[in-house]
Amino acid sequence: MIIPGVEIPHLCFQCTNYPCVEACPSGALQVDRNTGAVNVVASECTACGLCIKACPGNVPHLHPEENHIIICDFCDGTPKCVEVCREGRWNTLALVPREREAPHKTLAKTPQQLTREVARRILGARIAKEILD
Ligand code: SF4
Ligand code: SF4
Ligand code: SF4
Repeated sequence: MIIPGVEIPHLCFQCTNYPCVEACPSGALQVDRNTGAVNVVASECTACGLCIKACPGNVPHLHPEENHIIICDFCDGTPKCVEVCREGRWNTLALVPREREAPHKTLAKTPQQLTREVARRILGARIAKEILD
């Protein structure tokens, strides 16, 4: 958490060309044809970290205890983070249809970038700048 009180899930943006999958030398990352999510085959992952470097949003993370990568898997097409956000009436997260030609790679953002954007909206630009700079 970069700013206390501002915590956001780090979703995979399903880049059009899947640079993480392209970068994986072990075939440990597979695209789910139904949801577009990147699924990790943990038994094939060598924890080399190449997918982390390839991802424009730093989405892949090393599992804290096991020697493989974890990636937001879109919860099989029903994102739990979106459900919880709606149930809590924060209405900050929304599920948007995936557009075939949309440049998804440009949407992927690092946790730092996302937190700055959310903080600006919640706190206002001036206060957010004071905290973040
Ligand atoms: S860390 Fe695992 S999933 Fe990522 S590129 Fe290496 S082998 Fe593939
Ligand atoms: S956001 Fe990262 S993890 Fe998701 S498809 Fe793009 S490169 Fe892969
Ligand atoms: S709750 Fe599901 S969709 Fe949301 S960030 Fe976590 S894995 Fe991804």
